Amino acid sequence: MIQLIRGFKDILPGEVELWQHIERTAVLLFEDFGFKEIRIPILEHTELFSRSIGEDTDIVEKEMYTFSDRKGALITLRPEATASVVRAYIQHKLHSIDPVQKYYTIGPMFRRERPQKGRYRQFYQINAEVFGVASPLVDVQMVLMLMAFFSKLSVPDIQAHINSLGCPVCRVDFKSSLTGFLSDKTEHLCADCKKRSIKNPLRVLDCKVPGCKAVLSAAPLLAAHLCADCTQHFNTVTSRLSELKVPFVIDDRLVRGLDYYTRTTFEIQTGSLGAQNAIAGGGRYDGLVKALGGPDQPAIGFAVGLDRLASIVALNNADFSRRPDIFVAALGEKSQDMAFGWICAFCGEGIRAEMDFGDKSLKSQMKRADRLGAKYVLILGENEIEKGAAVLRNMATKAQNTILLPDVVQSVKEKIKHFERSTNLDG
Ligand code: AMP
Repeated sequence: MIQLIRGFKDILPGEVELWQHIERTAVLLFEDFGFKEIRIPILEHTELFSRSIGEDTDIVEKEMYTFSDRKGALITLRPEATASVVRAYIQHKLHSIDPVQKYYTIGPMFRRERPQKGRYRQFYQINAEVFGVASPLVDVQMVLMLMAFFSKLSVPDIQAHINSLGCPVCRVDFKSSLTGFLSDKTEHLCADCKKRSIKNPLRVLDCKVPGCKAVLSAAPLLAAHLCADCTQHFNTVTSRLSELKVPFVIDDRLVRGLDYYTRTTFEIQTGSLGAQNAIAGGGRYDGLVKALGGPDQPAIGFAVGLDRLASIVALNNADFSRRPDIFVAALGEKSQDMAFGWICAFCGEGIRAEMDFGDKSLKSQMKRADRLGAKYVLILGENEIEKGAAVLRNMATKAQNTILLPDVVQSVKEKIKHFERSTNLDG
């Protein structure tokens, strides 16, 4: 039997309803905040990612699914969405309509990481990006929108971790201080970090290897090297977040695994996930649009990890399964014909209706209705046709009513509407 690829997974009915609920919640909320959906391709030229994410990052060095296509061009399954959204902003000159653009996108990302709980090789993200706004208030708004999203989903125990990664001006000073710090410790670093400490010392900061982490616990902090503008920007972000009572901590060791981040960076962590505790991350990338050949426009974005979020929301035991409103149990050819007409009418009216297309006994049809969790069963056999009335059974209360055949569609519609309005199962 052919199995799925390691690190990939199926999202089956039963689970997928929860994902739909999360996605719908995001769409409604983000659109209230003025974001519009953008859909970007899954494959891009490899260069887009290597130039934006950075050559010395784990993603580009080790994790990308890169292939040469039949003509030899190097293409990559997207490991993240921001680079593609930036490419689209530049390629379609969306900035010429208005430099301020706000987009969200939902879809799969691919990274060949070591699979473990909460870490997959195909995983899903909800991304939001804002272009053209330099004000720190938009940073506050992004964190606020994320927290509102998690609160709508009743995600427990969440906290925003915030840091500033400064700008190219403050990094010059910081880089030399970090290089000085690392110079006599290279023998304790992993092979990758030995190279990084020379080529791109900032990348050493987010190495996950325990030996490197231990060395870095005493490393100089970027926060101590911020220029006046970056300090002011960061102070505005933190003071506004406090005013808005957003739960956050300043985490001066927070760095993120992509080169393009500047100034405000953040991660939303939860206490309910164990080791993979980040459910969203993001920050400013003020230099990326220009670096990829666009105008000099600032930008900020975030990505929510949908797989991890779904696993937390599932722990709340919420039931998002969609049961049929009605199951028509029809016995005999004539009844089946009538039943088919009804279920076609119901489904067009927003009523979830099912029937059995085989010629099964009443007992076995009732069993199936029960298994599907149908709220009502409408029973129609030769007797009922003769009497001109079908039997409607409420599966929770077991109460039964007869309904005249010409009134079936209308009466059932009313029953279901009433069922939905009332919290009592009143037959
Ligand atoms: P990043 O794009 O690395 O900043 O990640 C943003 C969010 O995506 C993280 O906080 C995780 O929730 C999620 N994420 C990243 N990588 C994976 C993965 N391999 N499997 C599942 N979720 C992931």
